[in-house]
Amino acid sequence: MSRSRLRVFVGSLSHETNSFSPLPTSLRAFEADILHRQGDAATLPQALTFPAYGDAVELGEARGHEVVAGLCAWTQPSGPLPRPVYEGLRAELLDGIAAARPDLVILVLHGAMMADGYDDCEGDILARARAVIGDKIPLGVILDLHANLTTTMTDSATMVIGCKEYPHTDYRERVGELYDLLERTARGEISPRSVLRRGPLVGPIGTTDEPMRGFVDGLIARESRDGLLSLSMMHGFPWSDSPHTGSVALVVHDGSQPDVAEAAADAMVARFTQICAGASAGRTRGIDDILGEAGRTLTNAGPTVVADGADNPGGGAGCDSTFILKALIDRNATDAALGMIWDPQAALIAADAGVGARLPLRIGGKIGPMSGAPVDAEVEVLCVREDALQRGLTGKLSEPLGLAVAVRIGGIDVVINSIRQQVFSPECFTALGIDLAAKRLVVVKSTQHYQAAFAPVAGATLYCNAPGSLNMDLTTLPYRKLVLSN
Ligand SMILES: [Zn+2]
Repeated sequence: MSRSRLRVFVGSLSHETNSFSPLPTSLRAFEADILHRQGDAATLPQALTFPAYGDAVELGEARGHEVVAGLCAWTQPSGPLPRPVYEGLRAELLDGIAAARPDLVILVLHGAMMADGYDDCEGDILARARAVIGDKIPLGVILDLHANLTTTMTDSATMVIGCKEYPHTDYRERVGELYDLLERTARGEISPRSVLRRGPLVGPIGTTDEPMRGFVDGLIARESRDGLLSLSMMHGFPWSDSPHTGSVALVVHDGSQPDVAEAAADAMVARFTQICAGASAGRTRGIDDILGEAGRTLTNAGPTVVADGADNPGGGAGCDSTFILKALIDRNATDAALGMIWDPQAALIAADAGVGARLPLRIGGKIGPMSGAPVDAEVEVLCVREDALQRGLTGKLSEPLGLAVAVRIGGIDVVINSIRQQVFSPECFTALGIDLAAKRLVVVKSTQHYQAAFAPVAGATLYCNAPGSLNMDLTTLPYRKLVLSN
């Protein structure tokens, strides 16, 4: 090592791309979420809140390294990046690495990013990063659990470590492991190599419940023995349509017992496949089935909350689908609420008409075929707010709804707003004067993250697999590039 103190470059260019979302992922979208440019002190504090990137900077400094905080760009899931947006951000990241002249590089990537002309953005980024730094500099990568891993990525990086938990709560531990292994590599103690095994195409499966909990604990217990350095089971992101979409077992080992590494990868895929086969059955019930059950589920404990996960913008969906709204109107549903439909124009028209107004309003169904047709209805404007907030994942009342209106269609209260986001907490309704305790049915555009905040008010929860960009029945998705491994 030429310097006594390691100089570490940390950078991130991260996006979970939903190929079935018609919303392009623009530079404006990154600017609205997280876009820290190397050397910009004003945007660094926000970038340090980004998991894994912030952890890598902090842990590097705690280890006495000289840390260069490079590009940090993240925006919430949406469609593929236009080519100039991707190539521009990639150039910033690579130029930053070249300028830093690092001894060690840590990149925080998602692993399911796609751009116009690029099916494997992370493979492209890592191959170019390797060309910039040459063969000798250790290059470590942290990926999201929902990465579609490729050999281009693992061949270019010194090692790749995936997050193990869903919800993704373990980035700090994984970054710590990556640092340890990269430092050992830099000292010449180990020469990591990777074994990959492709697994099935699977939908989202949490790691908090058995049997997945035990599977993850088993991976952790297996590491650091028999020459195994790190075991990652990447679940893949099935709504990102590429030839390499799907789950992959990744075993990083020191080369001392290659047969053990190969066998470990085989065992991981076999067990993961077995677990997933039994896991998704409860999430494929359609609208009629779920609304029928909701109608029969009468409880005094609160409304039945139905999740419309297929239109969850947190996974890249448009957030303006009308399939469930139309079904509720057709059924003359009463004591029902539905939110939030992202339709800035409809929100503006209702807001301009004012509270108490009755008007014909065209709602939702504008983003693409996965959103269904717009609903035309006579509505009464119940409430208009521009300053309402909901609690986000951290539990803080921090997420602005934008211009938000509540309108009533027969017996259904509908929240329409101008900032595209999933429902995390009841404030999406209560901030607009909707009393959830008085409802029998509440439909939320979210998959998983609403559950914690709604638990105190919900009598029951059901998952509705409506049509949409995030439909759980993967056999219905219009794949063009996917190649199934089995
Ligand atoms: Zn993820």
